[in-house]
Amino acid sequence: MRVAVLSGGVGGAKFVRALVETLGGSNVTAIVNVGDDVEVLGLRVSPDLDSVLYALAGIADEARGWGRADETWRARETVSALGGEDWFALGDRDLGLHLVRTQALRAGMPLSTVTARITSALGVATRLLPATDDRLRTWIATEAGEFTFQQWFVARRHRDEVDALRFVGAETAMPAPGVVEAIAAADLLLLAPSNPYVSIAPILAVHAIREALSERRVPCVAVSPLIGGRAVKGPADRMLRRLAGGTSPAQVASCYLGLIDSLVVDEADAQDLGGLGDVRPIVTRTLMSDADARRRLAEVALGTVPA
Ligand code: GDP
Ligand code: CA
Repeated sequence: MRVAVLSGGVGGAKFVRALVETLGGSNVTAIVNVGDDVEVLGLRVSPDLDSVLYALAGIADEARGWGRADETWRARETVSALGGEDWFALGDRDLGLHLVRTQALRAGMPLSTVTARITSALGVATRLLPATDDRLRTWIATEAGEFTFQQWFVARRHRDEVDALRFVGAETAMPAPGVVEAIAAADLLLLAPSNPYVSIAPILAVHAIREALSERRVPCVAVSPLIGGRAVKGPADRMLRRLAGGTSPAQVASCYLGLIDSLVVDEADAQDLGGLGDVRPIVTRTLMSDADARRRLAEVALGTVPA
């Protein structure tokens, strides 16, 4: 079975890893959000691509929940001591990747090509595709003003309630090479349990990607990022409450109108399945607490084991 999965960073990464462990790396194409991308210290950082890459390469820091394992912070100490830009933490090992990526981009290589090189250099067989090679950036409108995604998420610790989102560049962004082809060639499409507003929506903001999904001839299954109406981590629940009016499965599904056929929801949300319309609920345990749990979730989403 070949699958294409839309993914954000950490939550998405755990799910993509589970798919790879279940199906084998060469049967999985991950289409990853780039709306969070940011320039730090003159370097191009792609946090969601890197989270998926580090998870698949087995070098993610699972305890901290982001970045690389066995990380050191010498460069950052120097930056801070010199009064440099230190609001966005980049470890030494992580920095090495950003250096390589930035140099290649400056030489004119598209992000998808750079990503393919880095992925293969780390021995990862799964295809990781940025949603687009074009510049696409998420902006967050709040009462305190409008911020880039990382200003809001990292610098302001996402404390401001979100009134609206904009995906600057999406209007003209083309899907990266292979994205539409992977969607067309898939036997099953998946939306990872990522934040619908800031991880999946920026991917869907690329018109040709949304169109490819809405014209699908195979099922599309989304996995809810909420358990008992709450995000495992991050602001997804707050955003759903404010922007969709609540955190029920129907409100999660409303983010993917016309794009999904099934929604995998946690047992803790099973009492509240009203309003899903044509979307079929699949109830199971969705916390990816360890390898067994994440693999079982993948198998349920793939339909290879009953919920
Ligand atoms: P980010 O880009 O690093 O913010 O990561 P994502 O958007 O891909 O993932 C964030 C979402 O993952 C959050 O809304 C979490 O609730 C969700 N999440 C994280 N771990 C799990 C899990 O084990 N199960 C489920 N169902 N959702 C999870
Ligand atoms: Ca992200």
